[in-house]
Amino acid sequence: MLKFFGKGVYGAIAIGKVTIFKRNSAMAHRKRIEDVAHEKNRLRDAKQKAIEELDTIYEKAKNEIGEANAQIFEIHKMMIEDDDYNESIISIIETQKVNAEFAVAVTGENFSQMFAAMDDSYMQARATDVKDISNRIVSCFDKQKDKISADPQEKIILCADDLAPSETVSLDKDRVLAFVTEFGSQNSHTAILARNMNIPAVIGMGEGFLKRICDGDLMTVDGYTGEIILSPDEETLEIIQKKQAEDLQKKTLLQRLKGKENITLDGTKINIFANIGSVEHIGAVLLGDAGGIGLFRSEFLYLEKTDFPTEDEQFYTYKKILESMGGKKVIIRTLDIGADKQVDYFQMQKEENPALGIRAVRIYLTHPEIFKTQMKALYRAALYGNLGVMFPMIISVTELEQVLALCEEAKQELKLQAIPFSEKIEIGIMIETPAAAIISDQLAPLVDFFSIGTNDLTQYTLACDRQNPHIDRFCDPHHEAILRLIRYTAQSAHRHSAWVGICGELAADPTLTKTFLEMGIDELSVAPSEVLKLRDVVRNIRLE
Ligand code: PEP
Ligand code: MG
Repeated sequence: MLKFFGKGVYGAIAIGKVTIFKRNSAMAHRKRIEDVAHEKNRLRDAKQKAIEELDTIYEKAKNEIGEANAQIFEIHKMMIEDDDYNESIISIIETQKVNAEFAVAVTGENFSQMFAAMDDSYMQARATDVKDISNRIVSCFDKQKDKISADPQEKIILCADDLAPSETVSLDKDRVLAFVTEFGSQNSHTAILARNMNIPAVIGMGEGFLKRICDGDLMTVDGYTGEIILSPDEETLEIIQKKQAEDLQKKTLLQRLKGKENITLDGTKINIFANIGSVEHIGAVLLGDAGGIGLFRSEFLYLEKTDFPTEDEQFYTYKKILESMGGKKVIIRTLDIGADKQVDYFQMQKEENPALGIRAVRIYLTHPEIFKTQMKALYRAALYGNLGVMFPMIISVTELEQVLALCEEAKQELKLQAIPFSEKIEIGIMIETPAAAIISDQLAPLVDFFSIGTNDLTQYTLACDRQNPHIDRFCDPHHEAILRLIRYTAQSAHRHSAWVGICGELAADPTLTKTFLEMGIDELSVAPSEVLKLRDVVRNIRLE
């Protein structure tokens, strides 16, 4: 028995026999050629076949994982036609007098290395895509195909060095119990597709892993912990089988609610969205069947870095989130740095009470460039989905007006730079200070929605530091003051045709769901794994 650890990208447990993915790369051997024009014709035909294949894969992917996720194969088609890519292939054929498939393979390798060396994690992830399209074109020269060995009836755990997005989506899901790869990043399309396809997957096992396993070995895959056990002994196998059964039972119970409405017994409906802080959690949002993303804590993009994320970097991240959500609402909260979330490169002065100091919107007004860079990235990304943007820690109308003026400046700058963007964004604010709740009637006319951040609203209303573990007993989250502020905020919103949600932890409290519904709350945003549990609660409520 041997244990290995990788990164789980989709939580589930599988037990089965290993099949090692065999990729065909035999055709890219270098051959000397005389007739350059003939090679160019062969290249044109192979590219055409590759594009036809991608059309078929796109249709399959669209049905299985939705249009937005299938877009990657449209992008692959565009990459095949990319000028730089094609110029490189032609130049290798012409100058080195070599066969077209070899020129494609070399170009694929060069471009992939170039992308992998870039600082931008989005561009790094494209290294796999360019390799994927090159392998596809190469395979189209004589129609040989990638192979999954073993008996086609048997279910398998597929182990590979890496799986390109098109390879992942082409997998026969009925046959594949799980997949395990030596390489791969959590950000790659492959990981996203795996999550969306509900295939238990562990990536990043490390180079050499494939050399330690053989076709037919018994393997267990734990997509939660990333643990892989090869040839488990009887006792271990029993433990894993028990864990698998329990996991399935829990999921089955909630799964019956997937696709169902969040509707009470008397017909009142509410949106249940999910809170996340990283692109990597979108799979969980989709798996949990959330109606959208109610809070994307964008400051995590800043916290992960050692310097400010650039506009382009942010744009690609937001675009990816919107595309992955396929038209569902995505609410991105602009950065909420300060208080407990400190970043060295912001070079903020040390404060006696950081929770009451230069935080969130106060940074936008003292350092407008930081905020405008983020807004520009958001306006650009808005072209790719259904975006809402909200500002944290607002306390006054003047402050909100100043922030909205900065948004106008951001749009003007994009116009001057002739950069495409969309103004179709719902604008909202977080209601997380007592001041904002109390003047919510004045704030509501300026926004499309409110999202109540009960974590901070509780901290500031009850004077209870949320970081201090010793004052829990003084901090009653059901305090009448909090409930009154929420109720008043909901009334203010509705009087001015705005909608209102709750994205603090209180949103998931099942003992308050009925109260929130009675207040007319339109949306509750909770952790992805809480969505179906909350749906269950809503569906068992009857309002008075
Ligand atoms: C809140 O304050 O309730 C909230 C959702 O924001 P955060 O927890 O990120 O401060
Ligand atoms: Mg907050």
